[in-house]
Amino acid sequence: MSGIKRRKTRIIKIGNVRIGGNYPVAIQSMAKTKTSCVEETIKQIRELESAGCEIVRVAVKDKDDAKAISRIKSNINIPLVGDIHFDWRMALEAIDSGVDKIRLNPGNIYKRAQVKEVIRAAKLAGIPIRVGLNSGSLQGHKVSAQASPKGTRSQGHKSAADKMVKSAVDYIKVLEGYGFYNIVVSLKASNIFDTIEAYRKMTKFCDYPMHLGVTATGLEFPGLVKSSIAIGSLLLEGIGDTIRISLTDKPQNEVKVAKCLLTSLGLRTFGPEIISCPTCGRCEVALVKIVRDLERQLSAISYQLSSRPIKLAVMGCVVNGPGEAKQADLGIAFGKKEGLFFKKGKAIKKVPADKCVGVLIEEIGKFVT
Ligand code: SF4
Repeated sequence: MSGIKRRKTRIIKIGNVRIGGNYPVAIQSMAKTKTSCVEETIKQIRELESAGCEIVRVAVKDKDDAKAISRIKSNINIPLVGDIHFDWRMALEAIDSGVDKIRLNPGNIYKRAQVKEVIRAAKLAGIPIRVGLNSGSLQGHKVSAQASPKGTRSQGHKSAADKMVKSAVDYIKVLEGYGFYNIVVSLKASNIFDTIEAYRKMTKFCDYPMHLGVTATGLEFPGLVKSSIAIGSLLLEGIGDTIRISLTDKPQNEVKVAKCLLTSLGLRTFGPEIISCPTCGRCEVALVKIVRDLERQLSAISYQLSSRPIKLAVMGCVVNGPGEAKQADLGIAFGKKEGLFFKKGKAIKKVPADKCVGVLIEEIGKFVT
C-alpha cells in the first residue's frame, strides 16, 4: 500500500460517510440532471452508486429542486449534498428537505445575515457546510483564467490562489464566529497551478477536511490529465480527504477516474489492479481485446474483492512479460497464440490466448472464498 503520510484533519460526518481523520479518501461526483426531474436524477445517482460513487451532489437552483431532495434521498443509498449559489434561501429549503450537507459559494452568498441564517439551520439539522471556493466566482475579484505558476506573477499582484485562500479564511472565520465548526473546504481553480497552490496554502490556516477538485477541466482526456496532476500531487503530499474529478462527460467516468487515481496512489483498493503493456509490433495476440474482456468480467466480482489489493499482469510478449507477471499475484506473458500463466511469481502452465481470461477469472475467484 501507499507510503503517503496523510495530513491530520477533523472528522466530518456526511450522512453515513465520514471524511477526514484516518477515513479513506471518499469519491464524490455530481448529478448532471435537472434536480427537479426526480426520476431521471435518481436513475443517474443509482448508476453513480453502482460505479462506486460515495457522496453525490445535486444543483439546487430553485424551490422545485430543493423540494425534490427528500424524494431523491429516500431512493438512493449515498449521502446527498445540495449545491447552493446566489440564493441563500435555497440552502434553507434544501436543509428542510433533508439534505446531508450543503455547499456554499463564498463568492455569491456572503451577506452576514444570510450566512447566519444558513448556519443556524445547518446547526439544527446537524449537517456540515462546504466552503466551496471557485476561482471563476470570487466575490469582488477578477481572477485571470490563465495559469499563474510561480515566478510569472508581477510584484504586488495577488495570485488567484491567494485570493481564494483569503476568501476561504474570511468565510470560515464568520462560520466559526457563530460557533459553527462542521466545515469542509474546497478551493478549485481551472488551472492546476492555482489549484495546487491554494490547497497547499490553506493547510496552514485550518485542519478542516479538504474536498479536492479542479474546476472546468474540459472533456475526458484533458480533464483526466489536469485532475490527475493537481489532485494527484496534493494527495501525494497527504492533502485531501474527498475528491471530485470534474469532466465534461458522463458522471460515471468521473468516478472511474477517481478510482484509478486513488488505486495508483495506493490510497484505496477497488478490486484487482490490471497491469498491461501498451502492445507493439512484437505482440502476437489481441491484447487490447483480452484486457477489455478481463476488465468487463472483473467488474462483476470486484465488489467481493474490494478490500484485497490483487495485482494482475497481462503482457504482450516475453520482453517485459515474464518479469511483470512474476511480480503480480497472477499474470500472463503471451507468446504466439498462447500465454505463460504465472501464480505468485511461479510459471504454472501454458494457456491458449482465447482461454486466458477464463483462467484468470477462475483463479481470481479463489481469492473471494
Ligand atoms: Fe511490446 Fe512486449 Fe513490451 Fe508489450 S511487453 S509493449 S508487446 S515489447
